[in-house]
Amino acid sequence: MDLKQSFVELLRRAATDLSPDVENALKQAHDREEDGSPAKAVFRTILENVRLAREQSTPMCQDTGSLIFYIDLPVGEKEEYYINIIKEAAEEATKKQYLRPNAVNPITGKNSGNNVGINAPYFHFHQWDKGEVRVRLMLKGGGSENVGTQYKLPYGPVHAGRDLAGVRKVIIDAVYKAQGLGCAPGTLGIGIGGDRVTSYALSKEQFFRKLGDRNPDKEIAEFELSLKDDLNKLNIGPMGFGGKTTVLDVFVGYQHRHPATFYVAISYMCWAFRRKTMTIKNGEVYYD
Ligand code: SF4
Repeated sequence: MDLKQSFVELLRRAATDLSPDVENALKQAHDREEDGSPAKAVFRTILENVRLAREQSTPMCQDTGSLIFYIDLPVGEKEEYYINIIKEAAEEATKKQYLRPNAVNPITGKNSGNNVGINAPYFHFHQWDKGEVRVRLMLKGGGSENVGTQYKLPYGPVHAGRDLAGVRKVIIDAVYKAQGLGCAPGTLGIGIGGDRVTSYALSKEQFFRKLGDRNPDKEIAEFELSLKDDLNKLNIGPMGFGGKTTVLDVFVGYQHRHPATFYVAISYMCWAFRRKTMTIKNGEVYYD
């Protein structure tokens, strides 16, 4: 097994091959819209773009996003080993034009040209008891990242208190303010509780769930579904052209908070919902 080439392949798949759950949700959204409507035309264009990207192995969007890796390692494996190989793979994937160079020094404004820089790619490592390595990759577009936000409850402008009703109000507020920016239809990852940083981290990790997956907590599962219904009544639609689908799904996670704080982090993923998983087991590589 050539591990570097396996990571290049992971990056290629993430950038060019939209996962079936997202493509199916986009097809269903297309079918729900009225014939001749702008929304139907937008979905048709998105789906055609998805097909061409897969067939031609070209990025499905010109912004191939920031590279965010969540890696689960067996005991004894070294993080540095994976970091170095993935950086080499990112450089090669950029040369092959699976990725646009998206790592810019914030002080000098200089693009590194290869998607490698300080904290780029970004790595979250966890140790686990299994004997296999799991690498989950997300390519996070800049436009959709810009409409992500965080609220501190209570939040006066929409009368949101420190309860689930308040959480619902700020999520609707965030999607209403986005008004299609971030390339709707979006999928929301919500992190309730924790501190400033961990609420965002929790919200983003929700994106590794498959569309249609529900939180094991029944109350939160119902909350996810009812929020999705409410958000789709906003009539913002794909790219803000109006329509029946503003979000493809809503994923909510929660964690304990400090008594004095109540954060709600909202991460927004655009229609180009790119994430792939690679598992390394007994010397073989599997992709999902
Ligand atoms: S928000 Fe998503 S679909 Fe829109 S330009 Fe960025 S990566 Fe592409």
